Amino acid sequence: MTHRKDTRPVKVGDLTIGGADQVVIQSMTTTKTHDVEATVAEIKRLEEAGCQVVRVACPDDRAADAIPEIKKRINIPLVVDIHFDYKKALKAIEGGADKIRINPGNIGKREKVEAVVKAAKAKGVPIRIGVNAGSLERHILEKYGYPTADGMVESALHHIKILEDLDFHDIIVSLKASDVKLAIEAYEKAAEAISYPLHLGITESGTLFAGTVKSAAGLGAILSKGIGSTLRISLSADPVEEVKVARELLKSYGLASNAATLISCPTCGRIEIDLIAIANEVEEYIQTIKAPIKVAVLGCAVNGPGEAREADIGIAGARGEGLLFRHGEIIRKVPEDIMVEELKKEVDKLAEEHYEK
Ligand code: SF4
Repeated sequence: MTHRKDTRPVKVGDLTIGGADQVVIQSMTTTKTHDVEATVAEIKRLEEAGCQVVRVACPDDRAADAIPEIKKRINIPLVVDIHFDYKKALKAIEGGADKIRINPGNIGKREKVEAVVKAAKAKGVPIRIGVNAGSLERHILEKYGYPTADGMVESALHHIKILEDLDFHDIIVSLKASDVKLAIEAYEKAAEAISYPLHLGITESGTLFAGTVKSAAGLGAILSKGIGSTLRISLSADPVEEVKVARELLKSYGLASNAATLISCPTCGRIEIDLIAIANEVEEYIQTIKAPIKVAVLGCAVNGPGEAREADIGIAGARGEGLLFRHGEIIRKVPEDIMVEELKKEVDKLAEEHYEK
């Protein structure tokens, strides 16, 4: 299945979601949206971590009023999340939102839906329909008895039809569930039935550790099937962690062309250096590298360089020194106390070469 590439490309600010084998990383702020200073500061941290699209909640008028100022001060597309109230949707669109998240079936009277669609069309603002297993419409729950993948897809199709009937097609759809198996099934079925880009997520996945494992289990299964054009990892943690997890996940599937990857050995009795500390330091360092470089850190030279042949650059511990290697071939020896610095310099050089290409 190659749903990802076969979807309709939808513009979100200067980014395109769908229509290509790319998965855009999103996150959501945790600040009060009306607190512009705090919200912008958090968005800047998210941007720096690699977040490509950011969403803010819009629970009240103060939040809606803050949208123009937030938009002015950030560099990535802004999504405004609205529940039910069409006036806030209109305000958000007017205020410069690059996308809104609202379910048209929940807006109410037809005139209200029409007003939102008309405003979104006029400004080229797409709408994300967000189906959540925990809040399916009553008629769907009555039909299926409990939240099912079929019920979730039916809910999505119900909202899509409302927009399509108004000749609106800049649509992105999510079908979130906190049950991993249910989410996988829902996204698989949605990929068969829906040609709009899918926004992936496992909702309420938990804390940093448990939520990361759960999200990777669910979203990994979905991504591996070629499904999903954008994703948000939902964690009860600093949202910067969501972005880091998303990047790692996308790297595992070769879907991040702007991030370096660390290969580090699991360590064993042959270890010659303080591998765990070095691996953590190098991992931190390469967070800022925006090139698809593979960097290896290995505990010893016995199997080291050969074990990490796919690495563009790496270091293997030897007695009192480090062996710098490229693609499995040793290029030089460096004293242990400066080997991490030397590795960082080599990483920077490779990144420069990549940026110049
Ligand atoms: Fe053990 Fe060396 Fe392999 Fe690391 S690289 S796991 S220390 S043999």
